[in-house]
Amino acid sequence: MNSGYREEVNLLTKYETYIMQLCRALNRQYSKEAAINVVVNFIYRKIGFRAMYIDAIEENKTLIVNRASKGFQAIHEEKYFDIKENYGVFNSKLPIPEYKKTLFFEDKIDINTAFPMLNEKINAGSLLSTPVFSQSKLVGLLIIYSPENSTKIPLELQGLAKLVTRELTAVFSRIERQNLEFENMLGLTALENILLYSNEDSTEGEIDPLDKIVHIISRTTGMKKCTLALLDENEEFLLPHFSTFNKRDHVKDIKYPIDRTKTKDHTAIIAIETKKPVIVHDALSDPRCDPLLAMELGIYSNITLPILNVYGKAIGVMYLDNGQYETYSERQVRFLEIIARHIGLIVSNMEYIGDLKLWSKYDGLTGLLNRRAFESIYEEIYKIYRYSEDKFSILMIDIDNFKSTNDQYGHQMGDKVLKNVAKCVCENVRSKDVIARYGGEEIIVILKDIGKERGKDIAERIRLSIENLSVDGIKVTVSIGIATFGVDSYNKDNLIYLADKCLYEAKSIGKNQVNYI
Ligand code: GH3
Ligand code: MG
Ligand code: MG
Repeated sequence: MNSGYREEVNLLTKYETYIMQLCRALNRQYSKEAAINVVVNFIYRKIGFRAMYIDAIEENKTLIVNRASKGFQAIHEEKYFDIKENYGVFNSKLPIPEYKKTLFFEDKIDINTAFPMLNEKINAGSLLSTPVFSQSKLVGLLIIYSPENSTKIPLELQGLAKLVTRELTAVFSRIERQNLEFENMLGLTALENILLYSNEDSTEGEIDPLDKIVHIISRTTGMKKCTLALLDENEEFLLPHFSTFNKRDHVKDIKYPIDRTKTKDHTAIIAIETKKPVIVHDALSDPRCDPLLAMELGIYSNITLPILNVYGKAIGVMYLDNGQYETYSERQVRFLEIIARHIGLIVSNMEYIGDLKLWSKYDGLTGLLNRRAFESIYEEIYKIYRYSEDKFSILMIDIDNFKSTNDQYGHQMGDKVLKNVAKCVCENVRSKDVIARYGGEEIIVILKDIGKERGKDIAERIRLSIENLSVDGIKVTVSIGIATFGVDSYNKDNLIYLADKCLYEAKSIGKNQVNYI
């Protein structure tokens, strides 16, 4: 009988009842975090030493302490604290293979070498670190420690720690197996939902099928935010469908320009170019992300998957984010890839039968929102402002003498002028404003939170910059009518009528001018 085994047996006798209790408690746990909690509590309450579990994986020859893990709890001053808040990284100084062995330190200097950042916080005087393996890969460390100047950890605790970690490994693999079954089930449900929906007769309502699909994905994957963004015809923009909105953002019309020169905030572009998923574990430090933007939007981790059409061409991306640090297992990524693949087929199918054009929110020539999309966005905006003190202004813009531009230079040239006028309008308003092609060469703008006076200024700025525009030497002017919600009318349709009326008055009194009530 070797001495290690004898030690274990001795300990087992000493802590027999406790160990049995521990095993029973562990068998009742259905999540990794709960199992870790049980172990950490057991060591603290029954053995009398402080303990913690750290998720640690070996990646590119460095030991990564997984920030996304929720298993970082430790008992410190009899309170739980979240290690992830305090130490993002491990900053290990020992060679990685050392962490795969049991480490036993009775000296603060040794502890500081092995766990520099950690010990800054826990200030241990003696420490025992036992590796936890899963399928012979290091997955974490069980750390038992005692603060400086208090009872040192006894050597024989090593045997007990080994027993506990062995038990933990068994529990982890049981939970893993259960999760796998659960995920497979979820995966099937998700696919079933998506497929069922895509086969559904869509005469029932005015809901964009892609909007509905992102909701289904968000629900079935449990991810708070799911965005499906498809490239426009010219591959200049990503046009998104969101699963979640918040109040005024709901009606925000955000188009993401495809800027291949970007070196930050470009995970979508990488996913499109490489046709591979892009996984971000920590958006604040990942060089592919913009930390300021991540902070502003509350993004901690995310995954961006390419959407491929039937020919294998990337036509967009699916973006998932849960508003917290997450780890994505290979299996989860694979599952999401399968979903993305199906979405690609659905979108290809919609393209083929012409449904996508029908449901498109954007006008093909100008890239502005189309009339249909405008109507539903206007409805939403109206609902929001109806009960608020805030105002908004509507600009109705019409190109002057456009018929003669067409007659003189041809229809194609006319199209080019119209496209440039649209671009010019966009450049003169904010991204939160709503701009749509209302009719042939009529553009409508909703200026949010803008009253009459500022509305006039903005309209004048638009008028002037179009006057200064030259499209291949062709000059163009516009007339603009303004109506303000909360000043001219509280009625949705009347407001448009009034803006239109002002526009035609502007036409009758000489064109190339801004007119208001
Ligand atoms: P007014 O100053 O009174 O607005 O004169 P107008 O010639 O612009 O008259 P109106 O607005 O009634 O005519 C719109 C014209 O715009 C008719 C049509 O030939 C042209 N048009 C509408 N849509 C398009 C388009 O997509 N491309 C081009 N090239 N022309 C368009
Ligand atoms: Mg006109
Ligand atoms: Mg017109």
